[in-house]
Amino acid sequence: MPRANKELIRGMNRSLLLNAIKSEGEVSRVALVHMTGLSPATVTAITGQLIKENLVFEKTTGDSTGGRPPILLALNPRGGFVIGIKLMEGQAVGALTDLNATILAKDTIAMEDNQVETALDMITTLVARLIKGSDIRKKQLMGVGIGLAGVIDFNNGIVKQNPFLGWHNIPLRDLLVSRLRVPVYIDNDVNTLTLSEKWLEPGRPEDHFIVITIGRGIGMGIVFNGQIYRGKGGGAGELGHVMVDPDGPLCDCGRHGCLESLISDRALVGEARRMVSSDIRDLDDLIERAETQADAANILVRAGSIMGGQIANLVNLYDPNLIIISGEGIRMGEIFFSALHKTFRDHVMPGLAEDTEIRIDSWGDDIWALGAASLVIAEIFTSPIQKEEGSIMAS
Ligand SMILES: [Zn+2]
Repeated sequence: MPRANKELIRGMNRSLLLNAIKSEGEVSRVALVHMTGLSPATVTAITGQLIKENLVFEKTTGDSTGGRPPILLALNPRGGFVIGIKLMEGQAVGALTDLNATILAKDTIAMEDNQVETALDMITTLVARLIKGSDIRKKQLMGVGIGLAGVIDFNNGIVKQNPFLGWHNIPLRDLLVSRLRVPVYIDNDVNTLTLSEKWLEPGRPEDHFIVITIGRGIGMGIVFNGQIYRGKGGGAGELGHVMVDPDGPLCDCGRHGCLESLISDRALVGEARRMVSSDIRDLDDLIERAETQADAANILVRAGSIMGGQIANLVNLYDPNLIIISGEGIRMGEIFFSALHKTFRDHVMPGLAEDTEIRIDSWGDDIWALGAASLVIAEIFTSPIQKEEGSIMAS
């Protein structure tokens, strides 16, 4: 067999075993043979290598049935570390985590401008600070994940389009690999969040789910058949730019009436300044006024209703098990979400609504950086077929 094929198969078996150990928590070699269908010799050889790499460790159970206690294998979450960074206009937020995505250090760095060179400098500094702040050695770092808005070509590591930074066709992954000398992965920020839902929630049963983020923009991540769906070039899930009203306001993308132009933070604040009071400061101010003022509340009701209609469209198209709503905008709260649920129920096809759960995610500042970290964790556990096209190993 050619060497390349042998290595590929070995890599596939390795990720098969890593995944099995991860999903079981603790598992014997015999059970791994049964679960994977690999030969006992292959399981022994590969788990031996994983133990040597410190990714897996052996533990003896306190089994008191009299015989030799079975030796179980478990994942060593501190066998490697990853860094996730959310890159946005004005700042980059990073977290260093172990393989269970437990945060060991986090940090934020301001970006003076939107130049690519500036971003490369800031990310390099941030990575160095996170390593220093968590007391790990650089060689224990298994990779850096970057999440950012826009159309991102994950396979080729290219930022095709980022509206906030004004970037077009920037080979960000390769530029960072040559600076950081570790594997780097880049993806759309909502995709990284979606991956973290898939990878970091133990035993998540849903094979078909959609993550929607609301806030400064509107984003969407799609999991079909257990796999993230990115489209042909990373553009899938641009929910913020589906057309809602052809005569609507001008959007950042240059067209009129996109969902984002109607219900993003900025759109709602702009509308509130025109319709309610010119001295409304920000979204939090609008939310506060909506508690007591009907005209302010109406803005959130209308936004919730527009979003609910879009979710009904998505469920009609994709029939997912679960829709997760996340992002800074979930603080719009009860007024927004009761309108959302009502319009959803009114517009979803009969028979599809009952078994589709809409879940509002708990929201924390860390989740974007954690999402980017999970991009690397997912790669570590992913088959080398995807890895070959998806990553560049630093020499
Ligand atoms: Zn648009």
